[in-house]
Amino acid sequence: MLLCKKIKIEVSDWDAEALEFMQAKCRGLYNWWVMRLRNGERWNLERAKKSLQESKAYDPELRCVYGKLLAEVYFRLDKAMQAFFKRLAEGEKKPGFPRVKPRHQFFTLCYPAMYLDKIVGNTIVLPTGGGRKWGPKGYPNIVAHLTEDPPEHFHEVAVSRDARGNYYCSFVYDDTEQGKADPESKPGKQRKKQKQYPIREDGIVAFDLGIKTLATGFNDQGRFYHIGGFKGYRWYNKQLDKIRSKRDRCKKKSRRYIHLSKVYKRVSERKRRKQQDCLHKASHLIAHRLAERAVVIGDLSQRQMVIKKQGNETPKERNKRHIRNRMVYNDWGVYGFVQMLEYKCLRFGKELSIIDERDTTKMCHACKHKQDMPLWKRTYRCENENCGLVMDRDENSAVNIYQRFLARPGPHTLYECGVLHDPDA
Ligand SMILES: [Zn+2]
Repeated sequence: MLLCKKIKIEVSDWDAEALEFMQAKCRGLYNWWVMRLRNGERWNLERAKKSLQESKAYDPELRCVYGKLLAEVYFRLDKAMQAFFKRLAEGEKKPGFPRVKPRHQFFTLCYPAMYLDKIVGNTIVLPTGGGRKWGPKGYPNIVAHLTEDPPEHFHEVAVSRDARGNYYCSFVYDDTEQGKADPESKPGKQRKKQKQYPIREDGIVAFDLGIKTLATGFNDQGRFYHIGGFKGYRWYNKQLDKIRSKRDRCKKKSRRYIHLSKVYKRVSERKRRKQQDCLHKASHLIAHRLAERAVVIGDLSQRQMVIKKQGNETPKERNKRHIRNRMVYNDWGVYGFVQMLEYKCLRFGKELSIIDERDTTKMCHACKHKQDMPLWKRTYRCENENCGLVMDRDENSAVNIYQRFLARPGPHTLYECGVLHDPDA
């Protein structure tokens, strides 16, 4: 399957300037087209591509940008437009017309692999525009040092920059193409084989994804798993709020203001990295380490996670709503978690199923009685006198998801990865 490896690169100041120049020009071209389309012009990929010559005549500096990067701009816009048309056809309320890319964001540069034949050791040459029959070169080709080994046969390379000004190359590659007999590959440089864990073919594990505990699992042998999520977001949020309020009291663009902005960026990046790392580890644990071949989770799109604003809310309710929604949008990361789970399950030969999870928290798994379960109730106490079940709410929900998966009409393979969102297919 297709995977992506992101590697930090080191470039000279001059080369960094070339990257900045090229991304600014690509973004300019992209935004110029978005504005034209906003004004009602029809989108046609072929015609747009042909107009590049005119654009170059209008802005000769475009000649200093590598041509394939400019071509990618049209493909990128085409993708955005096609996605917009699709949303429109599906009758979405807010189909979301493609937007202009802001100046402070690095416009990712996509190099098709066949033009990147110059990797020697860990040095990659990224071409710039001009040269030979194309006229004088504004910038010499960029020589970037990769801080890790790149994959052997890759498809394309995307150059990006993070908020702190580090540059990266992301290599898209097919894992089945790796390690193929390559006469030049050194035996010592072979990738370390990942350890294989036993898989129980008939094993099933169902997970309830939550906020307090990232994932609570229940398997066919009656065992529970508890996978905790990232814990430090509260501490980080407090720090971030403090830094921001300090900064906002300074004069804009002053030295202290700029310094605090940098600190803010650094801390928020550290928070994001820690959280991503945590999600990666959790999804890896489920997809790789656990023995059960079938992994079941509830469909999150059916869950109402965000609290809507009420007409007459008290300040306390308002505060609570803010904290919670910030958590769901910024800190929880469970949507990214599901994506990681999807591809990791596919990669390790597991079967991921996403099933209807309506009422899985409200229902008692023993007697099927339903009762309201506000979020603060962490324990499920069944109100049915003949039952009287007392259980952790997430565990009860996981058992419900497990039982629902078993009760569902087969064949279960219909729900394998790849067709996750299309159960009717
Ligand atoms: Zn009950």
